[in-house]
Amino acid sequence: MSELLADLPSDLKERLRPSNMEEYLTCPLLSAFKRGWVPRAVQWTPNLTLGSAVHAGLKVLLGYVGDEDDAYAEVKRVMAEGYVPQEYWELEKLQKLACRGLDKALGALSLLARERRVVERKLYLGTPDLITETVLAQSLTITDTKCHLTPHGWTDDYATSLQQWAYVEEVSRYWDAPVEWYRILQVTFTPKVEAELVPFRVTPRARAFWRTILRDVSERIIQEYKGEAYRFTLAEEGPDTRPTVGNPASCHRYGRCVAFEACHEFQWDVSRMATLYTPRVKEATPSVQDPVR
Ligand code: SF4
Repeated sequence: MSELLADLPSDLKERLRPSNMEEYLTCPLLSAFKRGWVPRAVQWTPNLTLGSAVHAGLKVLLGYVGDEDDAYAEVKRVMAEGYVPQEYWELEKLQKLACRGLDKALGALSLLARERRVVERKLYLGTPDLITETVLAQSLTITDTKCHLTPHGWTDDYATSLQQWAYVEEVSRYWDAPVEWYRILQVTFTPKVEAELVPFRVTPRARAFWRTILRDVSERIIQEYKGEAYRFTLAEEGPDTRPTVGNPASCHRYGRCVAFEACHEFQWDVSRMATLYTPRVKEATPSVQDPVR
């Protein structure tokens, strides 16, 4: 696997990362848009930074980097670093909220003392938050932390999350051991701070089913990358060959899609799009670290 991936260009590896494959499946058009354009400016909200702060605190504690004081200090540091001053949210309150989120997350995790664990290990393409080994059953459990500012009603969606099934595939291959469960550690910050651990069983039958879907989606992304399928391009790069099929079911799925105006008001007319979005400057993507086996 690592040898196969070593031959791929780094921007293709980036597209095949579990979270990006999930995005592709959500809407291929949106996925192409994000590669070419910087989405419109939206008012800052603390969602992402709160999530990063809780992730950082968990990494300190679960990865044995430091003690509780270090973890809470890291949470506050990350929150302050990502904070954008504005009227509605005060930094101090957000730092308290993030620390409370870490508190609740740790309470919900209930790790067993004898479980061995790996925190945020970069695998072939993905970096799952936490992998634990059940010593007796000699099987692995993946835990992915998801943070939300407000409660949402689609926990069941994670049963069909391409990102999670891609992690299952990667982790099983990386350690050559079965993954028996993946769990979503959900942290919600308002109206009160709560955390819940939602487990999903990985049966051999389900894994085989999702492997087929993963292969199919990867193949489509690779074809698109090679220009064998429709591809979104800027006007100056040549004819408009964007994917013709978006997924309208996703237009409001996670709030209003960032490409909504490009899609439904400007109909991908690049000159009109430029009034609201800026073309993305291509950045070098990080290379993937090969596993040590
Ligand atoms: S607005 Fe809808 S169809 Fe258009 S890119 Fe976004 S999710 Fe896809």
